Amino acid sequence: MEFYIQYFVSNYQGLQKISQMNPIQMVDLKGQYEKIKAEIDEAVINCVASTAYINGAQVKAFQENLENYLQVKNVIPCANGTDALQIPMMAFGLEKGDEVIVPSFTFIATAEVVALLGLTPVMVEIDANTFNVTAEIIEQAITPRTRAIVPVHLFGQSCDMGAIMQVAEKHNLFVIEDNAQAIGADYTFQNGETKKAGTIGHIGTTSFFPSKNLGCYGDGGAIFTDDDKLAEKMRMIANHGQSERYYHSVIGVNSRLDTIQAAILDIKLKHLDEYAAARQKAAAFYDDAFQNIEELQTPVRERNSTHVFHQYTLQVKSGMRPRLQKHLKEGGVPSMIYYPIPLYRQKAFKEFVAPGFRLPVTEKLCDSVLSLPIHTEMTEDLLDYISNRVRVFFNHQ
Ligand SMILES: *Cc1c(COP(=O)(O)O)cnc(C)c1O
Repeated sequence: MEFYIQYFVSNYQGLQKISQMNPIQMVDLKGQYEKIKAEIDEAVINCVASTAYINGAQVKAFQENLENYLQVKNVIPCANGTDALQIPMMAFGLEKGDEVIVPSFTFIATAEVVALLGLTPVMVEIDANTFNVTAEIIEQAITPRTRAIVPVHLFGQSCDMGAIMQVAEKHNLFVIEDNAQAIGADYTFQNGETKKAGTIGHIGTTSFFPSKNLGCYGDGGAIFTDDDKLAEKMRMIANHGQSERYYHSVIGVNSRLDTIQAAILDIKLKHLDEYAAARQKAAAFYDDAFQNIEELQTPVRERNSTHVFHQYTLQVKSGMRPRLQKHLKEGGVPSMIYYPIPLYRQKAFKEFVAPGFRLPVTEKLCDSVLSLPIHTEMTEDLLDYISNRVRVFFNHQ
């Protein structure tokens, strides 16, 4: 069955049909692929024909191009963004019961790896406007057992890393930036120096999950660091703890980026800045369309970071979100709640959380955030349609 929703915007050109055959998506991976199809197909076929499926030349080439793009000394490709968090935590030599500070409002992976390694995740509040942790929040959670902190650059903009690094230095803590959502964002320090998000802490990590800003066609991830010693250790851990072939110095894991994925990523890396610009343009359109809607708060920008809009996340006035979401759905507009449940309420983390523990900002955000479709292939017509659908709900046509 197929249904059609027709809509009119001010000019007739805006008339579009949206059907189940061609529904609006949160992310349009197909449309993006079509534009680089020739190059991608050739690269994939070359990989298949070469049979160098593991550790082929494309992995090294991509690693070097990413080091160059990020201006970081070491990129260590690995199997996914979760491994990218786990491997550095194994390399730090932490002990059971050591505490790692993580935000309560993030994807599970950030805290999951901490618990998996027998460490203690300490889940903290985030800023009500930027959705990111701050230096002040982190500092309040530090105890004599704290060893590391994992700031997450949520939805596409960097935490205030200058301030966070000062706190980390003062308390002698490791810093892992979870940069799965903000690759390509620029952070500017007080002195005017600019660095890429993910290259400021001791370690940065990212995910190449297909829907991420730099996504491959399967799973993938990477670790970044300027510290050569740590890099060597992490390369060893990612390769079964192997120091030379069949000699294993430490317990490690098997975590590699496939050659095919590296070849795809190397092509997409060349487009990363242009992809970010397309997302920023879509975000600006939404910002403008929603500026007078009292019931909505549009994304607040970090003062010292650019925003690459992995997500465009609104805060919807208390109690209105379910009806708005339903109204959007009826118009063929998908929307998502990132994240509906604070980490400290997840059953899996029960043992780390005192009964009744609540963080008010995190609670409020879990009840009010709503992410709209945002991707690299959005047309004015599509943005017009989606934002009109939102505006009609609030009677702001
Ligand atoms: C996607 C994501 C991860 C995990 O990445 P995978 O590649 O799916 O393992 C970790 N942290 C954050 C914040 C993410 O968004």
